[in-house]
Amino acid sequence: QSFEDAGFPAGVMNVLRTSRYGAPSAIQAQAWPIALSGRDLVAIASTGSGKTLGYLLPALVQIQARGGDPALGPCALVLAPTRELAKQIQAEAQRFARAVAMPDSAPAPRNQHRNSRGHRPHQAAGSLRTVCLYGGASREEQLAALRCRPHLVIATPGRLLDFVEAGMIRLGQVSYLVLDEADRMLDMGFEPQIRDVVRALPPGRQTLFFSATWPAEVRAAAASFAASQRPVQV
Ligand code: AMP
Repeated sequence: QSFEDAGFPAGVMNVLRTSRYGAPSAIQAQAWPIALSGRDLVAIASTGSGKTLGYLLPALVQIQARGGDPALGPCALVLAPTRELAKQIQAEAQRFARAVAMPDSAPAPRNQHRNSRGHRPHQAAGSLRTVCLYGGASREEQLAALRCRPHLVIATPGRLLDFVEAGMIRLGQVSYLVLDEADRMLDMGFEPQIRDVVRALPPGRQTLFFSATWPAEVRAAAASFAASQRPVQV
């Protein structure tokens, strides 16, 4: 399978070309058709497999296709266990999001489009916007970033739930949910927070569940969060 087969928008294809990847990885080749068709996915894939782009590139396509109103909250949400992983996902997402045009995407008013240090977020006006939320860092800066009305939010469960409970972010429009490194999130005791976040999402969403391991607890969580699918193992 080649990158051309996946049918990504031209902007995404350009970034893939400049990345000089040889070919889609195994998890990408298997995940892309499923995620692009709107189905749930349970994938067993570890770091280095290319799993991040396995769920991120279809997320960008689905956000563009589903055409939600970013003023009402993000359309897609990625949950990750740690701040480090969330930041890595955000960096990967931004490389591609900048190249995806959003027709409805007028930039936020000037005074709201700066973070607390007075910098503008590094996102082109009119392109898909992503924001990263994680614990152990200033809530104010992350709140300021949320004012850019992101289409995609990448977050650790605890900090996201703080913002949900404080009414700072609405999740009623999320139709694409990713649980990345779900096994680590369970090990770290995040299941109650994940459940609370999931309760704030509308029914009928698409869920992509990624884990590096496949013990009984992870199988049970996969069955409860994603519609039952034969896992795609890489
Ligand atoms: P991940 O497993 O998602 O953490 O990705 C590991 C690394 O592989 C990241 O630096 C990606 O940019 C890179 N990568 C993603 N897809 C490919 C690909 N198809 N070919 C080569 N490298 C890739």
